[in-house]
Amino acid sequence: MNRNRVPDNPPPCQEHTGCRSPEPGISGDRFAQRPRRMRRTPALRRLAAQTRVHPHQLIYPIFVGLGRGQCQELDSLPGQSRWSPDTLAAEAARAWEAGVQAILLFGVPDGKDDTGTEAATPKGPVQQAVRELKRQLPELVVMTDVCLCAYTGHGHCGVVGKDGEVLNDPTVDLLARVALSHAEAGADLVAPSDMMDGRVGAIRKALDAGGFTGTGIMAYSAKYASAFYGPFREAVDSAPQFGDRRSYQMDPANRKEALREALLDADEGADIIMVKPALPYLDVIADLQERLDRPIAAYSVSGEYAMIKAAAGRGWMDERAAALESLTSIARAGADLIITYYAVEAARWLNE
Ligand SMILES: [Zn+2]
Repeated sequence: MNRNRVPDNPPPCQEHTGCRSPEPGISGDRFAQRPRRMRRTPALRRLAAQTRVHPHQLIYPIFVGLGRGQCQELDSLPGQSRWSPDTLAAEAARAWEAGVQAILLFGVPDGKDDTGTEAATPKGPVQQAVRELKRQLPELVVMTDVCLCAYTGHGHCGVVGKDGEVLNDPTVDLLARVALSHAEAGADLVAPSDMMDGRVGAIRKALDAGGFTGTGIMAYSAKYASAFYGPFREAVDSAPQFGDRRSYQMDPANRKEALREALLDADEGADIIMVKPALPYLDVIADLQERLDRPIAAYSVSGEYAMIKAAAGRGWMDERAAALESLTSIARAGADLIITYYAVEAARWLNE
């Protein structure tokens, strides 16, 4: 039975003598309850606001490739670019000035192979960028995406077996090596996004064994097999060349499974638990906020950003209002941190 269902004929009030009506909010003096009073002026609305988004909650996802002097705008993500390690520092400084304290790096390598070897090289785009950022902006929180899909020719997030299956355990070993190379470069947190079983524990173990006990893990714990990743895959050229990712990413139909994944990651040592995407999974964010004892992040993905950008570009929606409403909704659902392509713009809007 739905617990929220109101009985068809509410029983008359037993507790209060003189209570004339069983309907809440209507007294003998016409309307005693007037919620609109607290919405009357902007100052009253601000006083009563239960959710506030602050720039310090926002994480800015950035794409970085090799080379020098690069800043190439991405067709599928208007307003976002692919940077090289040297130009990235200036972009991160721009974000820092707006109040965004954390960035999440995605590498776009030159070469790909079957096992994504390039992902763990110290000369890779992410490793170079982390070193450059830590040199120029030591206070900036640098997070790095840990996965293989941008580095494998087949575009899957792991090692592919003979029958096309993505193999869990050999993938976990490679991911631990990638995470360690990011920690060696100076990353504050590594963020495994592959959805292999046991990877958070394996990464924690590898980091500790390497002496990086202070490097944190932000786990993509509830990452759904979503159609909202489309623009991102075009940006980093990581679309699977065969099949799809449903054998490792979560089924959008499942809610309890997210809690299971999150509890496992927490148990294995994750410092931040993430839900991805954000807007279509607000119920999952709310569940994890209630049940987990550590910060919950939500990734408002490329498709969420692109929907607003595209509609605003046609004059169908007010971009700023729609973007801020989305961020507020994600925070209201329970996200402590929000990864968003709107981070810098939103921080500026919030500061006005
Ligand atoms: Zn991946």
